[in-house]
Amino acid sequence: MNMIKHSRLTAFLLCSAVFLSLTAVMAADNEKKAKPVPNGFRTALIYDDLFLEHDTGPGFPEHPDRLRRLTKHLKENEISKRLLWVKPDEQIDPIPWIHEMHDKKYVVELKRACDAGEKRMHESGDTPISKGTYEAATRAVAGALTAVDLVMKKKVTNAFAALRPPGHHAMPDRAKGFCFFGNAAIAARYAQKHHKLKRVMIVDWDVHHGDGTQEMFLEDPTVFFFSVHQYPLYPGPSGSPDIKGKGAGEGFNLNVPLQAGSGDAAVIKAFETDLAEAFRKFKPELLIISAGFDAYRDDPLGALGWSSEVYAKLTEILRGLCREQGHERIVSLLEGGYSKGGITEGVRRHVEALEAGMEK
Ligand SMILES: [Zn+2]
Repeated sequence: MNMIKHSRLTAFLLCSAVFLSLTAVMAADNEKKAKPVPNGFRTALIYDDLFLEHDTGPGFPEHPDRLRRLTKHLKENEISKRLLWVKPDEQIDPIPWIHEMHDKKYVVELKRACDAGEKRMHESGDTPISKGTYEAATRAVAGALTAVDLVMKKKVTNAFAALRPPGHHAMPDRAKGFCFFGNAAIAARYAQKHHKLKRVMIVDWDVHHGDGTQEMFLEDPTVFFFSVHQYPLYPGPSGSPDIKGKGAGEGFNLNVPLQAGSGDAAVIKAFETDLAEAFRKFKPELLIISAGFDAYRDDPLGALGWSSEVYAKLTEILRGLCREQGHERIVSLLEGGYSKGGITEGVRRHVEALEAGMEK
């Protein structure tokens, strides 16, 4: 009897040991995947002076000085040395990827209007153009795709692309709201078609709803679009929480409207509840952030009243959710942000939080 008990105990202990070591191997594997790459850089910063060539004229909120301020501020801070500064990869031809999400006719028309020296796209005041706009906009897409490549090839753990023009209002067939090409949407499709990912999530924390991105994936269950935004505000009813996707895409679109003045607490709560639940269910293999900084308290175009610290907090929440999936593949793309503080301190807090070691 004692012998039987003893052998049962031995078998139990052996099974437990095997289980525990398997768990340890799996945990170590996940940890390995999340570790920074051998070159020592955890985070890439993608930027090109060509982004300044999109000239929107005097007094326009989306102007080249945004990026001048941003890069100057980063370079004056300690974080700069810990970033892998790179330009968009010249080997990437962004045009076929732009065509994945935009009508060819519109792309041709934008090039023609820029080459001809026209000043506005579709006669619209919210999309001024210049000779350099087409080149800047296509290079911005190349920058977004470079960020995807760097992360997918494990050259870095995550990447922030300081792009302009921004992209999340761009529609398949037209420019809109300072945007020409859907940088985040194109990056998501590129990750799927070029890097064979099945599920990509786009989290949009710009103060405005990303109506262009929503439009592009409304019926697509493979790209989950999550947006927090001030509501009501530009661009209007597209940001309604009632819009949850269509057809096969039903349930893969989540809008969380925030009230003017709701501050840091409301967005943190939305991330910790609505977003966390959707994220855990969807299990994205890559996270793309449409990172606008116009919810910052001093922004002339938004009134959510966020601090600069909140951008670090939101980044930490997203990194934590990715780590639960065994990776930290985050590609963050600049959208809006029109105050000096938002575009300098807000971005820096975000990038510092992307780069920071995560021990817990
Ligand atoms: Zn915005």
